[in-house]
Amino acid sequence: MANPKSLKRKILIVGGGPGGRISYMMLRNMGIDDAVLVVNEEPTIICSLPYAVGRELIPEGPEKVVVDLSRPEKLPPDTMKDVLIGEVTSLDVEGHRAVVTGREGSVEVTFEKAILAPGAVPWIPPVPGVLDDSDGGVDGTWVWYGKELVPRSSLASNVYSLRGAHDARALDDFAAKAQKAVVVGSGAIGLEIVEALVHRGLTVTLLEALPHVTSALDAPLAARLEDRLVSRGVTVGKGIALAEVTSTGVTLDDGTAIEAHGVIFATGVRPNAELARQAGLSVDRGIIVDETMRTSHPDVFAVGDAAEIIDGPTGRRVLPLIGTLAMRQALVAVSRILGMPMTAAPATPWGVSETLGLHWASVGWTEEAATAMDLAVTSLALPYNTREPYMAANREGLWKLTVATAPDEKTGIRPGQILGFQALMEDKSPLFLAERFLDIVTRRETVMDLARHHFIHSPAHNDVNDPYLQLLFMARKLFMSH
Ligand SMILES: Cc1cc2nc3c(=O)[nH]c(=O)nc-3n(C[C@H](O)[C@H](O)[C@H](O)COP(=O)(O)OP(=O)(O)OC[C@H]3O[C@@H](n4cnc5c(N)ncnc54)[C@H](O)[C@@H]3O)c2cc1C
Repeated sequence: MANPKSLKRKILIVGGGPGGRISYMMLRNMGIDDAVLVVNEEPTIICSLPYAVGRELIPEGPEKVVVDLSRPEKLPPDTMKDVLIGEVTSLDVEGHRAVVTGREGSVEVTFEKAILAPGAVPWIPPVPGVLDDSDGGVDGTWVWYGKELVPRSSLASNVYSLRGAHDARALDDFAAKAQKAVVVGSGAIGLEIVEALVHRGLTVTLLEALPHVTSALDAPLAARLEDRLVSRGVTVGKGIALAEVTSTGVTLDDGTAIEAHGVIFATGVRPNAELARQAGLSVDRGIIVDETMRTSHPDVFAVGDAAEIIDGPTGRRVLPLIGTLAMRQALVAVSRILGMPMTAAPATPWGVSETLGLHWASVGWTEEAATAMDLAVTSLALPYNTREPYMAANREGLWKLTVATAPDEKTGIRPGQILGFQALMEDKSPLFLAERFLDIVTRRETVMDLARHHFIHSPAHNDVNDPYLQLLFMARKLFMSH
């Protein structure tokens, strides 16, 4: 829609990521037309961006994952009708007014209810050389450089991050012409970028500040993942401190220089909560919401990566940063606005990915993370076979549970409670197990509760040894006294 000077709508939605987009689509699909969606960048299927850069699963590249809101065959007719292109630059929650600033000037939007879905912004450590004056980046979006929010355009021309279509295009161009890359950060996104660049034929060095790669896995599982990386030619540096990004790569604080044509930061994100903070809403690390996704103002809801929510197993406030949750939360916020009594269940952060053929999953708290929170825990580890062990096609894997050994008053944790699940598998997705344990962990079940979980065996699909039964036996020894 052409930007008018002022607009009155029942519902204002801020942000065109999964949280905002799904809120808008749901309203449209429910026949509610009286809503406006403010979008400041091309909507994208973010989760697929690394695969668009890698071009193995998405040979067409980044353009394939841009969501064209005007494409009639997939979306409700006239979807663009109530989409404003621009950024909400001020929000007055008491006055129910917002200002949207776009290329065509300012629009004042008055609303009855608002859904804030501003997502998260990549965070880059404040290392010299990350910023320059070349003005070569992309306008309109932001990154955190340490404690400073800076425009993407201020990043040096050899520095990259991955959050939107513009980032993916830049990285895709880089992959086409570069031979060597440094990726900083070995979380799921860092690993997916490494894989993408390996698929594009680059020589990759992965740098991680922590003692082992991928903090979503405990050290022994992470070591197997690292072995996979190394066996595929990736150089891995752990426990490193970056001193500087230079025009020829990076320098570490011990003086080591690593040559690269580009440096890609996958060092996490921070919720985009500034607008909410300025509007006077309760904000901690993210925007505080209740189980109806309502903020501290009764007419304003927040969903997605910007919202801080309750963790299922521990009851602590967490930032899950998960796209599927953003969409669930959108349904809750929309339902509440329309008077339907839906609530968001507590959630548990998870990560599931595949790194150069090795599938991995992590749900809830690792043993290392739980110990760092001063929780008394132990672990139960189990080998896993993807088929009967005597079958040629069998591939060995590994399971690990984090289990509480003592009650914890602050969190209400019970002895035997399963706080986390990790798995490594060859040639097989651990998604089905991760989903099962996501429910187990979120519902605060104990190892003894595993007795109530059914197990299906079929030789072509798994090993006859019932892993739930095995875990139960192992747990009985540990928890006889409780
Ligand atoms: C590379 C990558 C891979 C991922 N893989 C997965 C995965 O496999 N599975 C999964 O579940 N999750 C995955 N995620 C996480 C998932 O993408 C996020 O959780 C999800 O995008 C959050 O959605 P959101 O709508 O809250 O925020 P975002 O997607 O960040 O969208 C928010 C939008 O709002 C805009 N905005 C901010 N402020 C304003 C304003 N004032 N006015 C207008 N617009 C504004 C932002 O610029 C942005 O476009 C991945 C993330 C990345 C980066």
